[in-house]
Amino acid sequence: MKTEEYLSRLEARGVKPTSTRLLVYRVLAEHRHPLSLRELDDELDTVDRSTIFRTLTLFLANHLIHAIEDGTGVARYEACEGDDDCTLDDQHVHFYCRLCQRTFCFHSLHVPHLPMPEGFEAEGVNFLVKGVCPDCARQPYPKTLMA
Ligand SMILES: [Zn+2]
Ligand SMILES: [Zn+2]
Ligand SMILES: [Zn+2]
Repeated sequence: MKTEEYLSRLEARGVKPTSTRLLVYRVLAEHRHPLSLRELDDELDTVDRSTIFRTLTLFLANHLIHAIEDGTGVARYEACEGDDDCTLDDQHVHFYCRLCQRTFCFHSLHVPHLPMPEGFEAEGVNFLVKGVCPDCARQPYPKTLMA
């Protein structure tokens, strides 16, 4: 059922759905938070890192996924939600917790539309909020010691 969905999604984007590509796409689509190359590598024992990287490059070019920057210096990837060419409307707000260093997706919070000055064409946006997540906020020890 799900596999069918992923398969048609790849095909709709002009990507030939090989088993490896489906595997990589499935992991990205089923996570509720963006994954780095290393995290994908950890999840996918059967696929080597360079293959994962090539697959990501292909997915990016075909607007199946997009990359986000969470300030850690490592790109993270997530499946596009919309059916269009990954426009700004497809992007949502992310939250980076400085204590547990997790990046959260706020799927219901779309990035605000920012009026660009004359002549500038926006193609991507990284809207990242930094702070402390609810799990960490509940911890008994002072946050300052962990920063
Ligand atoms: Zn996208
Ligand atoms: Zn946290
Ligand atoms: Zn996200």
